[in-house]
Amino acid sequence: MLSYNVATLLRSAPGTERRYTVEAVDLDVYDDLQLAAPIAGEVRLSRTGRSILARANLSTAIEANCSRCLRPVVAPIDVEIEEVALPSIDIDTGQPIDRDAEPDALRLDEHHELALDEPVREAISLAEPIALLCRPDCRGLCPVCGSDLNNVSEHQHDEEPIDPRLADLAEWRERADTN
Ligand SMILES: [Zn+2]
Ligand SMILES: [Zn+2]
Repeated sequence: MLSYNVATLLRSAPGTERRYTVEAVDLDVYDDLQLAAPIAGEVRLSRTGRSILARANLSTAIEANCSRCLRPVVAPIDVEIEEVALPSIDIDTGQPIDRDAEPDALRLDEHHELALDEPVREAISLAEPIALLCRPDCRGLCPVCGSDLNNVSEHQHDEEPIDPRLADLAEWRERADTN
């Protein structure tokens, strides 16, 4: 869990920073992605005024398919996060804070707990390479038969004569169209 209680930090002097080592964290990522390695790195939280500035440098790996030959590829990725999180309860008065002023802001929960799961999930999804390749010179799949061209040294299709039965059918169709 990428979750941190910042109640003490909110009571510290502005500028106070806490560092947390992230080790072996697993996270459900978006449907089309799969983590291939636990998340590791560092989270730094600091108090700025009445909010918390969360910064993180994390690394993990994702598993996806090579965009040319479709075999599974593991790609290491690094993500950097910088988010400002606002409280939902005033740390001094215990009163709820009006969220309407900044409805889209990242919020601490009512126990002053900061969850970074969602920002990290988003950052990981944005860090996914658009065209992931198993290797830079991946030869991809044959457009005719679908064979993996990385596995074969010579691969060519002759101009194959069309199956006579199909030829008859095509001819029949053509006639049917013109009538
Ligand atoms: Zn490939
Ligand atoms: Zn082929």
